[in-house]
Amino acid sequence: MITTLPQPTSRKPDTSLYERRESAVRSYARSMPRQFTKAQGVWMHDNQGGRYLDFLSGCSTLNYGHNHPVLKQALLDYIEADGIAHGLDLHTDAKAAFLEALETIVLTPRRLDYRAMFTGPTGTNAVEAAIKLARKVTGRELVIAFTNGFHGMTLGALACTGNAAKRGGAGVPLAHVSHEPYDGYHGSGVDTADLLERRLSDPSSGLDAPAAILVETVQGEGGLNAASPQWLRKISAIARRHGALMIVDDIQAGCGRTGSFFSFEGMGFTPDIVTMAKSLSGMGLPFALTLFRPELDQWAPGEHNGTFRGNNHAFVTATATLRHFWSNTQLQKDIARRGALIERRLEAIALQHGLSTRGRGMMRGIDVGSGEIAAGVTAACFDRGLIIETSGAHDEIVKILAPLIIDDAQLSAGIDILENCIREALSSPYGVAAE
Ligand SMILES: *Cc1c(COP(=O)(O)O)cnc(C)c1O
Repeated sequence: MITTLPQPTSRKPDTSLYERRESAVRSYARSMPRQFTKAQGVWMHDNQGGRYLDFLSGCSTLNYGHNHPVLKQALLDYIEADGIAHGLDLHTDAKAAFLEALETIVLTPRRLDYRAMFTGPTGTNAVEAAIKLARKVTGRELVIAFTNGFHGMTLGALACTGNAAKRGGAGVPLAHVSHEPYDGYHGSGVDTADLLERRLSDPSSGLDAPAAILVETVQGEGGLNAASPQWLRKISAIARRHGALMIVDDIQAGCGRTGSFFSFEGMGFTPDIVTMAKSLSGMGLPFALTLFRPELDQWAPGEHNGTFRGNNHAFVTATATLRHFWSNTQLQKDIARRGALIERRLEAIALQHGLSTRGRGMMRGIDVGSGEIAAGVTAACFDRGLIIETSGAHDEIVKILAPLIIDDAQLSAGIDILENCIREALSSPYGVAAE
């Protein structure tokens, strides 16, 4: 029998240890003050016996749920056999198996010819490598990124990130990036790709010739804005025309989140460079990858490195993920159906309250009007056992990032909770907190 209802605990545990010893930089822990002990599939369990339905999935790092049995067993077998845990960038069985799976399951069937660069294991490392390579290959400095884009926290990637609060942490000027309006930024009447083309082809616009155009197909942190295929094709053509490389940051939108392995599949363009991380390992292990056309592979050996480039345990679980989930079309069918279910339910809620929805595939959200209302909604959801977060310039979008493998009944049960919390937040003058 499939159980669909969360059973949260209401008693907040003592958090004084964290307040005393953990940096104030912690954030998610503040809005979900429980101590979690274990997790399986779509469920997270706290140390008081509470059970929570996970609609956050580690910001799309746990697309296949928590501790998927197939991935867990692959890793347990590998460790049991004393498989290499750390090998710098040495050739290992685990790396060979991953590269082979990447080639045969992902690249060849999609007619993509990319080389794989294993960067340090977080997304921001993959972005740093991508923009560094683009600058090296083109001999240009400027990167064009977009309004509401999010690309990571290290200086190069942070310079490409739009959010002022995040940028403020840099402490130095964030230079050599121009933030151009994303698709829809000026409303549906203005094609911002045409604006970019105009600026780049006007020798007096003040915009330098760019090394790269860095774009998310759906803006994960920036509000679930989904670019249209036409706009992305135009951006790709603009990059080519002006001698820039097109980098798709697929760290959050990739790995099936929007319906296909890469978020740009079937859209009629091929990025020069693709960054991946988050759900790449399949099990939440740190693992990042920068993919690029072979002609761009102009690195000298060791010119860009990192002690933890290529995480062998992550190679093992990533290989198991590709074999189990991506060597047939079942998951993609499930994502299409579940994505449509989420869309239908969110559209109905939006219609009822005069709100609007965002996103694509299983990467969707609803604009509840303000960050304050959204925070009230997510807090009320958490009190009812639903882990869900916000996104957007003002944190005004409540976003659903359920595991891709969630059962349809569990998905509906979670959306029921969200629907009730939105209704209460919008109907009570005191907001949901007054309950
Ligand atoms: C999360 C994210 C990053 C940064 O990844 P980290 O692992 O946090 O460094 C970069 N780009 C996008 C689109 C992301 O969602």
